[in-house]
Amino acid sequence: TPDNEVRFRACLDDVAAYKPGRPPERSDGRPTYKLSSNENPYPPLPGVLAAATEAAAQMNRYPDMAAVDLLEALSDRFGVPVSDLAVGTGSVALLYHLLQATVAEGDEVVYAWRSFEAYPIAVQLTGATSVKVPLTAEARHDFKAMEAAITDRTKVVLVCTPNNPTGPVVRRDELLAFLDAVPSNVLVVIDEAYREFVRETDVVDGVELYRDRPNVLVLRTFSKAYGLAGFRVGYAIGHPAVVGAIRKCALPFGVSYVAQAAAIASLGVEEELLERVDALVEERQRVVSALQAAGWDVPESQTNFVWLELGEDTVRFAEAVQAEGVSVRPFPGEGVRVTIGEREANDLFLNVARTWRQ
Ligand code: PMP
Repeated sequence: TPDNEVRFRACLDDVAAYKPGRPPERSDGRPTYKLSSNENPYPPLPGVLAAATEAAAQMNRYPDMAAVDLLEALSDRFGVPVSDLAVGTGSVALLYHLLQATVAEGDEVVYAWRSFEAYPIAVQLTGATSVKVPLTAEARHDFKAMEAAITDRTKVVLVCTPNNPTGPVVRRDELLAFLDAVPSNVLVVIDEAYREFVRETDVVDGVELYRDRPNVLVLRTFSKAYGLAGFRVGYAIGHPAVVGAIRKCALPFGVSYVAQAAAIASLGVEEELLERVDALVEERQRVVSALQAAGWDVPESQTNFVWLELGEDTVRFAEAVQAEGVSVRPFPGEGVRVTIGEREANDLFLNVARTWRQ
């Protein structure tokens, strides 16, 4: 490029564009639904909305950059010291900060694939290399292959459990064995964005995991179970050195007052929010059973979505559901991820899935 042109880092060339899901538009006045982003279909609880509204009155002031009240609320909730906690603009921001703090060109980041679509983008932005280890035929992590993929250049491993977009959760023993096998200078990020939807009991909780493992960092979010996707609040739990590095990379004032207030209020009404999660888990079971009855082979879902492997039919299927007023997330050539949402939206999707199999 000529000298008078702005130059961008080479790694930007590979960064995939994120295509946000939008509800379809209809001209016939019938309702439309968005089952493409794993959001919570419930409207805000009145107490959470009131706290956010009150906080909005301070919009002329910067938020508390240290998020002291929110960190204290999280510290009480999980029984971990404030020094082991960081909050960010969604857990995806915490992942970006973590990678920014730990990897650069020449380093490798190992993770299962397919998994959360932000991983390759976040890695590319640092200039580091993604090492993608295929999931097993049951859409689960292949830890033996992941272990074999670790080299001297590996700095970070990402473990998404339960896995987005396929749904299975990693079992206790396989995760513990993997963590024992990973060199202690490799950081293991346990992404538990869907933790609250897990009903399988043979699992190990990230909070329990990190305590005696300084190389483990847990990421969680208020976006899914707590229904705050629009406010962008995530949190990280890890050892002070790791959490400190994340904090250093964070954008100043990244989490707004409104978001902080809503997150604190949500922890205050957690019981009610988790009852909604129970209802979504029940609805998940209804959807999975209906799909199985219609002949679909659905991988285990411990999340608020289901995964349909559709190969070359993926886009056609997504368009057929879209024609019913429901947006879902197609991964062309692979499959479709469908969020468990409003019952009527799930039914519209199920109708398409049933006829597809006939
Ligand atoms: N991790 C996983 C596995 C996700 O699916 C998502 C959201 N789709 C996130 C992290 C990020 O969530 P947020 O930034 O909203 O906290």
